[in-house]
Amino acid sequence: MTVSIHGIGVSRGIAIGQAYIRGRNQFDIVKKSLAEDQIEQEIDRYRRAIAMAVAQLEQLRDRTDHSLESNVRSIINTHVLMLNDTAFVQDVLALIQAQQCNAEWALLQQRDALVKIFEHMEDDYLRSRKDDIYHISSQVLRNLVFAAGDDTPLQNSLANTIVIAHELSPAEIVVLHDQHVAGIISTSGGPLSHTSIMARSLGIPAVVGGRQCFELIRQGETTILDGESGCILFDADKTTIEHYDTLGRRHKERLAGLQKLKGRPAVTRDQHRITLQANIEQLEDIEAALELGIDGVGLYRTELLYLQSDELPSEELQLDNYTTALRLLKGKPLTIRTLDLGMDKQHATSLGQEAPANPALSLRGIRLCLQDLELFTPHLRAILRASHYGPVKIMLPMISTLHEILQFKNFLATLKSELDAQQIRFDQNIEIGGMIEVPAAALCARQYITHLDFLSVGTNDLIQYTLAIDRTDDTINYLYDPLHPAILRLVHEVIQAGRKHRKPVTMCGEMAGDPRLTRLLLSMGLRNFSMQAHSILEVKDVIANSDFDALQAKSEALTSLDTTARIVDHVEMLNRQSN
Ligand code: PEP
Ligand code: MG
Repeated sequence: MTVSIHGIGVSRGIAIGQAYIRGRNQFDIVKKSLAEDQIEQEIDRYRRAIAMAVAQLEQLRDRTDHSLESNVRSIINTHVLMLNDTAFVQDVLALIQAQQCNAEWALLQQRDALVKIFEHMEDDYLRSRKDDIYHISSQVLRNLVFAAGDDTPLQNSLANTIVIAHELSPAEIVVLHDQHVAGIISTSGGPLSHTSIMARSLGIPAVVGGRQCFELIRQGETTILDGESGCILFDADKTTIEHYDTLGRRHKERLAGLQKLKGRPAVTRDQHRITLQANIEQLEDIEAALELGIDGVGLYRTELLYLQSDELPSEELQLDNYTTALRLLKGKPLTIRTLDLGMDKQHATSLGQEAPANPALSLRGIRLCLQDLELFTPHLRAILRASHYGPVKIMLPMISTLHEILQFKNFLATLKSELDAQQIRFDQNIEIGGMIEVPAAALCARQYITHLDFLSVGTNDLIQYTLAIDRTDDTINYLYDPLHPAILRLVHEVIQAGRKHRKPVTMCGEMAGDPRLTRLLLSMGLRNFSMQAHSILEVKDVIANSDFDALQAKSEALTSLDTTARIVDHVEMLNRQSN
């Protein structure tokens, strides 16, 4: 009898293979007190473990297939940077000295302190960076525990198996890829963890969650994994295995077919040009996106620049970063989202301040920036100055009142005058857009757009605020529903506002990158999409196989649908039709 377990699909594709169940990567670390004269030796031991971890990662990075480069290499580079950071070197050494303890114990104290900081971040992407802290700590711990660094937990040949583990580091994913595993199930991590991003980049079908796997699946048992639905099956009958085998083959054929779309513009069958842009978090993301053929960057999340260092990034450092992005983009537009920091995902300089009871509803995004002009000024000046070197647009997060837009424009005018007085050049007509992430902003979009050059729908937050679900709270993630009638009505309202005033509306939340929703959004009149690079080819493919005008004709039907179930049927109908 086929038994199924449900997890979250994080990397599409079907895998069928024997289960390889790996136990927890645990070390029994106890605190040891050291004598004064042993400290120096312990410090050396820790430095050696760090150096060994850096060398191991660099070796892995350098043997990674060059066609996969950007994403994979940038994740490994991030880990190398973290290993060289004060937090992992000086701070741990200081703990060894202060507590006169063994390096393993000091590292664990530091790891737990860092994880606590990341855990309280509201942004999914940044919160999931706590997994990286675990991964790199484990790597150093392994080197400390197995002094020669000879612990190779995944050394056996795992070709065609489905690896089930409590946690897998991005570095281990590269090793698994080299070994040609069929699929991966990790009970920890989420869709935005680096482990998941890595699995997607390397094209390994993967599911996270599904904790019961450890109780229910036996070592070596034939297991099926669907990386799209998150379904894990075992004890499957012959017909089920055959069915999934066919699905897997079709998926691979489809992916192979998508490669021909690389570098091509997104055009519907009836010749409507659709804009496809990329969401990026760091410069390294640009190259990968460009290879796939994009029209620019529709969302540059600038927070990482602020969170990577204990010090606020200077105007010059930011200018350098933005101009490098422009250089890489070779004339394609760069939409810089102004800082979306809050008390929850705060910069090191504000740690220690009392956190608000409800961070998502507190001082974040544009609210924080308009209150803290010392923080905002170098940021905005750098953006303005960068605009002299290429097409830059400014995008404001978390707009909820007209006053914020007007206040921002006033402040921008002041900075422009200052730059003029200093004879520093910038684009006098730099475009300003507002993110629609709060229901109030969606409902007032027709008014806001008259003061702005464009709007961009941030569905991740819009869904959170409209449906009253904390996007970081796993207990209510089943309520997260992009097809809730209320969400579609709000999105419709924003698209109509753009149409009425002949100004562009983009969607840059995760909804824009879901190929199952592309036709629905086209039918609602959306022409500008911005998404993670890994979704670009699939969305481009759906666009290339759709008729914009025919889809538009079906938009009427949508407005009368009042339940998610009816909307799901409607979306399936749109996706089935060759239209
Ligand atoms: C959004 O809210 O949809 C969005 C794109 O912004 P972020 O995910 O960075 O909050
Ligand atoms: Mg947002």
